Amino acid sequence: MSGSLSVVGLGPGNPQQLTPEALDAVAQAEDFFGYFPYIDRLNLRPDQRRHASDNREELDRAKAALAMAAGGGKVCVVSGGDPGVFAMAAAICEAIDDGPKEWREIELSVVPGVTAMLAVAAKAGAPLGHDFCAISLSNNLKPWSIIEKRLIAAAEAGFVMAFYNPISKARPHQLGEAFDILRRHLPGTVPVIFGRAAGRPDEAIRIVNLSEAEGGMADMATCVIVGTEETRLIERPSERPLVYSPRTWRGANASAVGKEAK
Ligand code: SAH
Repeated sequence: MSGSLSVVGLGPGNPQQLTPEALDAVAQAEDFFGYFPYIDRLNLRPDQRRHASDNREELDRAKAALAMAAGGGKVCVVSGGDPGVFAMAAAICEAIDDGPKEWREIELSVVPGVTAMLAVAAKAGAPLGHDFCAISLSNNLKPWSIIEKRLIAAAEAGFVMAFYNPISKARPHQLGEAFDILRRHLPGTVPVIFGRAAGRPDEAIRIVNLSEAEGGMADMATCVIVGTEETRLIERPSERPLVYSPRTWRGANASAVGKEAK
């Protein structure tokens, strides 16, 4: 008898940014897997069981959740933000890919959530208004040389970048190194947004130029958005500046924009 598994995004932390679809999936499940602080955000009923674990054990957690669902359980795996962005949905898919055939019969739903870069961008204005990419700076699951290559490629291609997992106790130097690399490829005037704990009571948003950006301005709860040459900053008298990336590209060949499409 096969059960169900929902992989649910809880958003950045503000309960108002938790979708009705996510709340529904939580209400229907009986067994919960996820990192302790995420499970703690839910007001679970006494009949709902928690199987919280450390954040580093993604694949083991995915397998445990799938095994329980395959046995008929109504299982929910929770992630902060969106479950498909550097989170559990990919771990679940990987476990199904390599796992026993019966895991493919589980009724699986992935419920999206507001990912960190969107919550941070909204606080700053519209820095993701033009083309952008998201990069995890953690080299736990990929080599740093790949990250360096992607940073340079993204800077040269003119993408705004959102950095997830920017720094940790085990990786204190990487964000600073990333800024050093970017300073060789982008003007020092490019705006950099440090969005810490967006949507939570301890939220802090800071905007600096790339020339002043330092690794120590972020921690593990920060999503960093680095603009492009096109990204603008509007100073305001009594509010923090607005940062936006215009929809229309105004670069060196701006006069060619749109001609191709005609
Ligand atoms: N699935 C999550 C991301 C998990 S990776 C999502 O979609 O948001 C963990 C990283 O996400 C953190 O290191 C940080 O860079 C970012 N992050 C998560 N919640 C955040 C928040 N409320 N504010 C700012 N950054 C956040």
